[in-house]
Amino acid sequence: MNSSKNLTTFDAGDYIFREGDLGENAYIIESGIVELSLDRDHQNIVIATLSEGDIFGETAIVEHSPRSTSARALSATKVTEIPIDYVRQKIEHSDPTVRMFLRSTMARYRELSARLGHMIESLLPFPGKFENTKDYTSTTMELKSIVSQFTDMQKRIDQAVTSPVKAVGDSPVSERTLEITRVLVTEEKLLRQAIAQQQFRLHYQPIVDLMQNKIVGCEALVRWHHPSGDLVLPSGFMTQIESTDLIIKLGYWIAEEACRFQSRVYNQLRLDFFVSINLSGKQFNDAGLISRLDEIMNTTRASRPRIKFEVTESLLIDNPELATQSLKQLKDTGARLAIDDFGTGYSSFSYLHRFPFDALKIDRSFVSTMARSHKSEQIVKSLINLAHDLEMEVVAEGIESSKEADMLRTWNAEYGQGFFFSRPVDEASFLALLKPRIKRGEVG
Ligand code: C2E
Ligand code: CA
Ligand code: CA
Repeated sequence: MNSSKNLTTFDAGDYIFREGDLGENAYIIESGIVELSLDRDHQNIVIATLSEGDIFGETAIVEHSPRSTSARALSATKVTEIPIDYVRQKIEHSDPTVRMFLRSTMARYRELSARLGHMIESLLPFPGKFENTKDYTSTTMELKSIVSQFTDMQKRIDQAVTSPVKAVGDSPVSERTLEITRVLVTEEKLLRQAIAQQQFRLHYQPIVDLMQNKIVGCEALVRWHHPSGDLVLPSGFMTQIESTDLIIKLGYWIAEEACRFQSRVYNQLRLDFFVSINLSGKQFNDAGLISRLDEIMNTTRASRPRIKFEVTESLLIDNPELATQSLKQLKDTGARLAIDDFGTGYSSFSYLHRFPFDALKIDRSFVSTMARSHKSEQIVKSLINLAHDLEMEVVAEGIESSKEADMLRTWNAEYGQGFFFSRPVDEASFLALLKPRIKRGEVG
């Protein structure tokens, strides 16, 4: 956690702040439920009920105004506090975090305005609810005045966001950058909710023993089941997830889900079977990574030599010291390591013997062109030989034809993966692919 942010716990019923208080912090809900409300003539008017991933209290910070609502924990609630000084500093430097606050503020006011508008509408057909017309009129007038206050605030904030913002070095931020930021901020909120609401799923792509022509393992690949019904591939969300701390949480969920799957196939179906799990370089910034993965392998009863963590060259290049230390520790847990997408990055061969890799995954850009490009063919052959000389197994990715599979067999590549064998599929379909092995009564 960033040193400028603090985690605080509230009990059910506690006020986090009250209407009129001066704002010192904005908040992100880590867990629990928070109600935002207005007090009018001792009547509590609920404005919003917020849960994990939601931000609140940001408007007073952005506007430097007193709290316009009260915030109360409805259950035991953990929040990250973001102090005003931190936000101000970020505004000055036009940091994405600040733009996130601004964006969220605008969105909240729109929501408030809309809700209050609905309140007025719902009151209008029922003047009989009030003892006299005067009460009714004053209530609706008051509500209208609240709406107009909110609308005014929203306009001011809209102006603040859309007018050129001073960036570092005084260069104005372009409209395009702001638009991108708005989109990113909305996405980040959606992604936080997606994690909280468990909208992610793992799909599994078979990894085939090329000599025996049978499925011996799989790679776990994450997908986002978007509320719209779409299945979103990692290219649609991974960059955004990796640019925030969300990757840490999602990364653990992925590891746990994948280890559980390995354990089910290995311990219950009794098949010798490995699962490959992708680790993002960003996950290594979390000091607790290795011990948590160790714990996950324990609790899921996964077979450690049959869990393979895949990392890419960028991890080794961006932070070689951290990578050396972390990969050694990861190897000490008993799990295996693979270098992924080999050949697409800087590909210094010196990495290969400096790091304790068990397997080398040849990138699909070489495999998919090797049947028609002599150069790709030579690269694939050399990579296979290099891996074998360094006592590593080879997994060739992106096999799309029987010709490619045959070429790789000739060159003694151990494993293959690609659409020729199967696309990544959900767990039920994957288990169906394993049926021939189960029928043969193979025991691990
Ligand atoms: P990757 O690790 O290289 O994963 C292999 C990608 O190649 C997958 O794309 C897979 O669907 C695709 N693929 C496999 N065989 C073929 C083939 O024969 N032809 C073609 N054209 N493509 C093939 P996917 O699932 O879209 O994942 C893309 C990338 O997103 C992954 O590349 C990996 O870098 C990242 N990713 C996926 N799942 C995870 C995850 O759980 N954690 C992390 N950190 N990254 C992930
Ligand atoms: Ca991979
Ligand atoms: Ca790969």
